[in-house]
Amino acid sequence: MMKLDYTTIKTPAYLYNLDVLRQTLKVLKTEAEHYAYHIHYALKANNNEKILEEIADAGLGADCVSGNEIKEALKRGFRAEAIAFAGVGKTDEEINFALDQGIFSFNCESLPEIEVINELASKKNTKASIALRINPNVDANTHKYITTGIEENKFGINLWEIDSILDRMDNMKNVELNGLHFHIGSQITDLDTFKNLCNRINQIQEKFYARQIIVNHINVGGGLGIEYYDPDNELIPDFKSYFKIFHDFLELRPKQQLHFELGRSIVGQMGSLLSKVIYVKKGSVKDFLIIDAAMTDLIRPALYQAYHKIENLSSQSTQAVKYDVVGPVCESSDIFAKSLALPSSKRGDYILIRSVGAYGQVMASNYNMRDAAQVVFIE
Ligand SMILES: *Cc1c(COP(=O)(O)O)cnc(C)c1O
Repeated sequence: MMKLDYTTIKTPAYLYNLDVLRQTLKVLKTEAEHYAYHIHYALKANNNEKILEEIADAGLGADCVSGNEIKEALKRGFRAEAIAFAGVGKTDEEINFALDQGIFSFNCESLPEIEVINELASKKNTKASIALRINPNVDANTHKYITTGIEENKFGINLWEIDSILDRMDNMKNVELNGLHFHIGSQITDLDTFKNLCNRINQIQEKFYARQIIVNHINVGGGLGIEYYDPDNELIPDFKSYFKIFHDFLELRPKQQLHFELGRSIVGQMGSLLSKVIYVKKGSVKDFLIIDAAMTDLIRPALYQAYHKIENLSSQSTQAVKYDVVGPVCESSDIFAKSLALPSSKRGDYILIRSVGAYGQVMASNYNMRDAAQVVFIE
């Protein structure tokens, strides 16, 4: 993967491969332009400033879930007219800030939120452009902590609420309904799930049509999964097939624009976490590889039992040994892999944890007073 001399790098370190990012953006843009689809990058996946600037330069819009993300997006060159703002708990301060910037869309998740946006917009004598984030009750078939589109989740407006919300909105002068928004979850690898989403949106659009409402845009959120098991086999996600699903199954009305909010699929594969073996500790059943990266650097395995491919970059051994690969933090969940077969490993070996560009560094903490992993860019 690298022509880089990793032995000069202080570990743990996030390695961001800008060539992979640029190639991914290039393919993404080509495939999206084919259908004139609009892409917003979900900042929460990775907010490293250089990464953001690369993505803004490529001309993508932004998907933000906090006021600070909107500020950061603007600072890194994303245009306000291309910023969507999601989240179930937007504060007055965040709403006021977003109103002043004139963002593309507030993706609203409840009636109380719409009422507050209407009230705050009225005080500013302006009109907020909003979309309703609808919970389509489509199961994303992904980990339960990253499923967002079924009724038991906190996200979105449930189908049975829509009519009463639209009735209430008839009396609101300072919000303009411009879109319908959906985001059903993350790391979705079965494209049929998106087909189900399209069919559902078609039904939901009928409901709005019956009230003579045709919104300007449909936003289908993000969620396209990446290949964690064999990253080199698919460094660039299959955007072509993904967009084709929407082209084939989603019934857009004339002039309706289609928007996407992708995070993981844009930045996931460009990142790796470089670490070093501190100790090899004998266990009763198997040995532990204790490495200098921890759940404080990458929490996905501890939080969602996520799989990341792990490689030993140093060992030349042809003998495979099963290890539990663990970090130094005082929590039993600080585990990267259990019973993983690796070439026989020793203290000082370099270990590479793959596909960590999304939801890696952004979720880091300094628990146990650990230092932050440094960032190294590879070109
Ligand atoms: C997290 C999030 C996304 C991005 O999801 P990915 O799985 O990273 O593509 C898009 N839209 C919303 C509203 C989100 O919360």
